[in-house]
Amino acid sequence: MALHHSPSMHVWTHHRWRFPLPPRHKFPLPKYALLAERVVADGLARPDEVHEPSPAEWADLAAVHDAGLLARIREGRLTVREQRGLGLPWSPELVERGRRAVAGTIAAAHHALDHGVAMNLGGGTHHAGRDFARGYCLFNDIAIALGRLRRAGLAGRAIVVDCDVHQGDGTAQIFAADEQTFTLSLHGARNYPFTRVPSDLDVDIASGTGDEDYLRALEQALDTALPWARADVAFYLAGADPWHGDRLGRLSLSKAGLRARDALVLDRLGALGTPVCVVLGGGYAEDVRDTVDINAATAAEVARRVPFAAAPFPV
Ligand SMILES: [Zn+2]
Repeated sequence: MALHHSPSMHVWTHHRWRFPLPPRHKFPLPKYALLAERVVADGLARPDEVHEPSPAEWADLAAVHDAGLLARIREGRLTVREQRGLGLPWSPELVERGRRAVAGTIAAAHHALDHGVAMNLGGGTHHAGRDFARGYCLFNDIAIALGRLRRAGLAGRAIVVDCDVHQGDGTAQIFAADEQTFTLSLHGARNYPFTRVPSDLDVDIASGTGDEDYLRALEQALDTALPWARADVAFYLAGADPWHGDRLGRLSLSKAGLRARDALVLDRLGALGTPVCVVLGGGYAEDVRDTVDINAATAAEVARRVPFAAAPFPV
């Protein structure tokens, strides 16, 4: 094994599995390939550290999601209402890509347990609940990954730190009765989803809020949530959509502020020795390169925290 001093980490991606989208659709399909290229170009991961997982097993999805919903997704029988709520046109490619995104979070979560921190260059599909798939979210990758860890006896208590600008309604619904999982969501007060499912701790952020006030609110939320959660594992949803230029965001964070947010979350979890699996969530900048900048900065903060000379990834 060659020793190298540059920070380097394993990441997971599913960007080569694309799906048909109508022209000018807001879903940032190009983001994923650009980000995978960017983490290599920035020296955050070597090409052989960028992994393409096989699709997650339907049985793993079924441990979280309603059987009827999964059957409708699998067979392309979503109702008109479900189709509209999802906001992405159904196709077999969409389903396969969704399963691969979930698999990336499963793999990254396992890796985080062994190495302290890991990242999926996708996932964070927090609007998917037990029996609904909406807001561009087909499956709840975090809930599915956590289920896998628990069935393997690898984790008990967990925390979800959801900093996507939209409230994590699907995650909140799935874990509503789960005493072992603490759900924290910081989000724009006046933004999607307009009908909420309460998290364990919801922090409404006023439209137009900038770095300083946001970071103070996040710090206070973590002060409350972390001792309560006493988590064995954490999932951090590093949404790029609180950025001031985001088309669906309504907050006013700068890129530096978002990076400070990432550092704060990772440092607080790191201080407790809690392994953290980082996932992307949303990002809808007019120019997709701005979203990629924000996601790449998150990846850089993750890479900085990968322990030097960690054991090689078991193939
Ligand atoms: Zn979002």
